[in-house]
Parts: sequence; C-alpha cells; structure tokens
Amino acid sequence: MRYGGNTPCVEMRVDGTLVVLDAGTGIRTLGAELKGSADPVRAVVLLTHFHWDHIQGLPFFAPMHEPSACIEIVAPADRDEYVEERLSRQMEPIFFPVPHHGIRARCRYRAWQEGPVALDVAGLTVQALPVRHPSRTVGFRLETPHAAICYVPDNELVGGRYDVGPDWRDELERFVAGADVLIHDAMFSPDEYARVEGWGHSTVDQAVELAGAAGVRHLVGFHHAPDRSDAELDASLDRVRQAAAAVDVHFSWAAEDDTLRFPAP
Ligand SMILES: [Zn+2]
Ligand SMILES: [Zn+2]
Repeated sequence: MRYGGNTPCVEMRVDGTLVVLDAGTGIRTLGAELKGSADPVRAVVLLTHFHWDHIQGLPFFAPMHEPSACIEIVAPADRDEYVEERLSRQMEPIFFPVPHHGIRARCRYRAWQEGPVALDVAGLTVQALPVRHPSRTVGFRLETPHAAICYVPDNELVGGRYDVGPDWRDELERFVAGADVLIHDAMFSPDEYARVEGWGHSTVDQAVELAGAAGVRHLVGFHHAPDRSDAELDASLDRVRQAAAAVDVHFSWAAEDDTLRFPAP
C-alpha cells in the first residue's frame, strides 16, 4: 500500500529528456501526469525484457494514444520488427479492446542486440548487459552528465541455470562499477530463496553483496515480491541497511513516487 503495488516502471529525466525504464503498470500514472504538459510527449522507453509485468502498462500509457507523441521503444530482440510484433500481441482482441494498429503515437521500435545503445535523444548513451533471468533479459547502465544509473530489475545473481559465460559475474561487476545508483532485483528474503531458486530473482542480501563488490554508492532494492507487505519491508530495513553499510553502500527499498536528484540538492 505504501511502498507501492505497481509492476516495474522508473521515470528518468536527464536535462529535459524523458527516459522510461520498463513499462509496467506504473507507467499509467506517468502517462496521466504527462497529459498536463504543454509540449508534445517525446520519450524513450527501455524494456529489459518482454515479461508481462514489464510491458503490461504500455496499452494504458496515455501518450500512446496521442498523435503528437513521439515514442521510441528499445528492447532486446534480434530485429527491430520483433519488438513491435511482441508488444502487439498483448493488444490482440482476446487480451485488450484497442488493437495495436489503433495506437496513434508515432512509435519507433528498436532492437537491442549487443553493445552500447546510442539513443538519439540528447546524445544519451545506454549500455545493456544480458543477465540471468528466464528469456532474453538485459540490465541497463545510463551515463548522464550528473550520475551513472544502473537498472537491473530481474536478475538471479546466484542459483538457477542460465545461458551466460563463465566470466559473467566479473562482467556484471564491471557493468555496475562505481554507479551512483543501482536499482536491482531484491525480490526475496534469504529464508524464502530455497523455495524459489530458479525463478529468476535474487535476494536482497545477494544484491547488497554485488553493490559492495562493485563500489556502488546507493542500492535501491527493487521488484518486491507480489505478496510483500509494507510491514515486512519496514521490518527488514535496519538489518539490510547495516549489511549494506558494512560494505560502504547506502540502501533503500524502492517506493512509489520516490525521487532521487543528481547532483544532490
Ligand atoms: Zn521477468
Ligand atoms: Zn519482472
């Protein structure tokens, strides 16, 4: 109720450029806020993968239905047209009343294959790294003039079996190294994990360990388990904060409408 029950969506503003990380149900309220802006919406939406919780807000994102809006959607896929084709499926009549071809915004669909994605908005450079999660999934690193932000919402750091190379852990630590903020999967508590190993998610303690090893300044525990209560998050906060402080990392749980500013005011 307080930390929020929406599925993953993070709004980033870089000197006026709007970048949206994943299009979970949280993107609906972002769309409602954008309705009040005088200028046409121009946005880049970066999708880590096509799991339902990361795309299900898109049909409810008001700018998608505005002819003046210009939206670029980037996702891991082999070809640009696959990005559009996959997103269109959740708007087939059996799932949604408005068909994909009824979208009125000018949309551009781009596949991320490998290497940095140079977004054509304000020269922002985004890197993506494949992570350990069922289906093809990436995490993002965004270098802005003010801060380095890493977003890795779905990633099983330890356990499970995934198609990544033997050097993956080192690559991941380099990928998030020195980030001002790492928003990372922290779905499970350590005592829950044995039951859910292989589901594609991490424990908060595994995320703390990664943040410490990589010299991250602020770790945001993200992608709470659907049944997680405010009381449970509150109850574990001191313990996790202490564990993070021991490796020189500041920790917070992701919460609806939390705002981080860089440089800090
Ligand atoms: Zn997922
Ligand atoms: Zn997810």
